[in-house]
Amino acid sequence: MSAEHGLLAMTTGSLVAAAAARRDRRWGRRVTYSPKVFLPLTNLCRDVCDYCAFRRSPKDPGAHTMTPEQVVATLARARALGCTEALFCLGDRPEAAFPSYRALLAGWGFASTVDYLVWACRAALEAGLLPHTNAGVLTAAELGLLRPVNASVGLMLESTSDRLCDRGQPHHRAPDKRPAVRLAMHDDAGALRIPFTSGILVGIGESEADRLDTLLAIRTLHRRHGHIQEVIVQRFRAHAATPMAGSPEVDDDTHARAIALARIVLDDDVTVQAPPNLSTEVAALLAAGVNDLGGISPLTPDFINRSYAWPHLDQLAADCAAAGFTLTPRLPVHDGWRGSDFIAAELAPYLDRTSAPTALRTGVA
Ligand code: SF4
Repeated sequence: MSAEHGLLAMTTGSLVAAAAARRDRRWGRRVTYSPKVFLPLTNLCRDVCDYCAFRRSPKDPGAHTMTPEQVVATLARARALGCTEALFCLGDRPEAAFPSYRALLAGWGFASTVDYLVWACRAALEAGLLPHTNAGVLTAAELGLLRPVNASVGLMLESTSDRLCDRGQPHHRAPDKRPAVRLAMHDDAGALRIPFTSGILVGIGESEADRLDTLLAIRTLHRRHGHIQEVIVQRFRAHAATPMAGSPEVDDDTHARAIALARIVLDDDVTVQAPPNLSTEVAALLAAGVNDLGGISPLTPDFINRSYAWPHLDQLAADCAAAGFTLTPRLPVHDGWRGSDFIAAELAPYLDRTSAPTALRTGVA
């Protein structure tokens, strides 16, 4: 048991006060977000997580793989609206499970999902957007292919609890959610010097001690490689038509404690992020210690949490101001990383010519 386990005995009031003070010392009263477009390249996935409302098999209603033409058209609309991040978020290795998907990719001239992703990321760069890819578990070789065309890459660690993979638990049909597999990808990304986004999922059956252990594992990885740029503290929301539709959601107190633990446990240079569309009050997120609100799109919904619309930016800025914070746009790789060896040489010219906008036009689909 580490010294940090004493944090679990603290009251919520003491915990969030300590976290907010720590956030203020390093990040001040500036809270960032990334103006993004969300491109769900495919919602096919070889895993089945009991809380997921995004995933489909090929014959399911709503199964969809974006065509190259749809990718290009969406990128152009996003750029016109002032977005700077192209988030490619998709299911885990669908070609391993679905021959029809493999045939679709082959018809477009792509040998794999990563092959298609590399093309899509290049299209984003040419359109003036910086890619951030979250494609589930990838091999070191695949990460190496994505590094030159991505500003950053992400994989939520979610939880280091192996228990969540047991029969009857939310990850029992999701081999890519085994903690060891995800930890190994974090390690590979660090060895490859890729700016990396991790995260924890709050409320899927883990305990607070599990959350702390997960944060400590992320900290260990960051201290080994220095590559964790941000950690998302994402609360579980129960979606209709999923096996966990009737599961209780975590309350605001539990979520605030998870955010505060992240801010206290993680090193100061790691951004702590919580999505504002999954909470009713941004002030509570700020009070608990976040310094970032993640990607927000003027064009596309949150395809992972489709029932939860992103807040209007004007309202979000006003709510942040009321809490004493200034809402500021950022790029998908945070400011301090520019010019470092984490930025691939091929990517640097695109980064140099991209600056975060000061305002977005709206047009959410
Ligand atoms: S959460 Fe990710 S890995 Fe799990 S089913 Fe959904 S898309 Fe697949």
